[in-house]
Amino acid sequence: MPDHLLELRHVSQVYRAGGQQFPALQDVNLTLDDGEFAVLVGPSGCGKSTLLRIATGLQVPTSGQVLYRGQPLHGVNPRATIVFQTFALFPWLTVLRNVEVALEARGVPPEERRRRAEELIDRVGLDGFEGAYPRELSGGMRQKVGFARAMAVEPELLCLDEPFSALDVLSARALRGELLELWTGGKIPTRAILMVTHNIEEAVFMGDRIVVMDKNPGRVVAERRVPVPQPRAMKDPRLSAVVDEVYGILAGTTQPEPVELGSAPGEPGRLRALPDAAVGSLAGLLEHLAATPGGRHDLYRLAEDLGVDSDHILRTVEAAELLGFATVAEGDVALTPLGETFAEAGILARKEIFATRIRRIPLFRWLLELLEAAEGKRLRDEVVVRALALEFPAPVAERQLRVVIDWGRYAELFAYGEDTGVLFLEPTEAPTSR
Ligand code: ADP
Repeated sequence: MPDHLLELRHVSQVYRAGGQQFPALQDVNLTLDDGEFAVLVGPSGCGKSTLLRIATGLQVPTSGQVLYRGQPLHGVNPRATIVFQTFALFPWLTVLRNVEVALEARGVPPEERRRRAEELIDRVGLDGFEGAYPRELSGGMRQKVGFARAMAVEPELLCLDEPFSALDVLSARALRGELLELWTGGKIPTRAILMVTHNIEEAVFMGDRIVVMDKNPGRVVAERRVPVPQPRAMKDPRLSAVVDEVYGILAGTTQPEPVELGSAPGEPGRLRALPDAAVGSLAGLLEHLAATPGGRHDLYRLAEDLGVDSDHILRTVEAAELLGFATVAEGDVALTPLGETFAEAGILARKEIFATRIRRIPLFRWLLELLEAAEGKRLRDEVVVRALALEFPAPVAERQLRVVIDWGRYAELFAYGEDTGVLFLEPTEAPTSR
């Protein structure tokens, strides 16, 4: 059997700080084969960046072995490159020069340097911007220069540390597409990609294999293959199945789904009322917990800390539990890895996480199907209330509608006209399968 391109064997990393030892990675075993695109996901602090540094030889682990093509890695791996979240460009150099420096450092002669840099700039879609300075470019364009520079040295192993997280949604989508095209089209000599992201949808859309990590201590808890060839369609149900599974691993399931989530209106079984909690309060709670050492908190003290009444807190905590963001045991609330991921994510990733979680809830599934089938994909809110009133007392049905609207709008599952009282589905986005 041929050697793996990269193999981490029983890798552990202990950091020492203030006389204390802190296990950042514990007994990590990971392989990456030729032709593979693997993605690391997990909450902040689970050691993803540490793992990338170790994989590229920028850091020597406390114990364990790193093999590259079957050989122990000594020092920085010259065949590997890392692209960071915000790729540091030299502000005083033009785009062309910024790419050329990487080749210069490798002793490539000037003429070839220029030719290769120009070709790469063209390939990432920045043709015509060779003479521009970083400050004249958008964030997405700057990140493209970063990719061109990383690609210039023709890395066999390309490591990406949250390369799209600092970009706006359109730039991120475009750049993901371009990277996939270079990679799957064999237009770059890269043999394998190892990417870190907070964005589970992005991970599953791009990767062949998802490596799920957890923290305290940082370790690998699960791996899942994504059994769908590229190019993929964003809405492919096989991708959604893997996304759900990864969320499930990160959230931890506390009860069987029908008990946890209830049934849809009109279906047999109990329709579970959604906790009357606003998304804003929920986000505030998760942020507060994330800022608490250990991510745990006495339930009774939360109300005091957050300056709200305990009923409010209980409803918010119940929402967090329902969505898999927190667990409650013996009066303590603790964030799940998914809750931590949410608390640390940017606004767009938060919306995606939230959307994926509420889509599991039968009440939302039911409402989306109803909207999909409705004429013009529009429904008056009173129609929804009437349907809910078959299951709940009228005032509860009214409140449920408010919660459904608050959550659904935040997740951008549907829109709602405050003045017209109409819920509607917005036209779906353009295809993004490339
Ligand atoms: P992630 O990328 O998943 O957020 P990191 O690899 O950055 O995780 O960090 C893992 C843990 O190790 C964190 O708790 C972090 O605070 C700690 N850590 C990272 N680098 C150092 C360091 N140089 N010294 C001490 N602790 C560190």
